[in-house]
Amino acid sequence: MVLVVAAVLFFALPRGEFVGSRFSNKYHDLDCTWAKSMARENRIWFSDAADAEAADYLPCSECDPVESD
Ligand SMILES: [Zn+2]
Repeated sequence: MVLVVAAVLFFALPRGEFVGSRFSNKYHDLDCTWAKSMARENRIWFSDAADAEAADYLPCSECDPVESD
């Protein structure tokens, strides 16, 4: 039961500065068009650029999340 609640919170709540998709290797600013169009259940949150890149995600070339930090 605790695990179910944790899983729901993991996927439902904003958890950081940047967001990526489970189906790509790019991460975005929260106001990026791509971030907004992502299905909520497919979002992966990163607290910062180092966190995202540690997970093998790359900065989006459109919203340039590293520069806008
Ligand atoms: Zn983007």
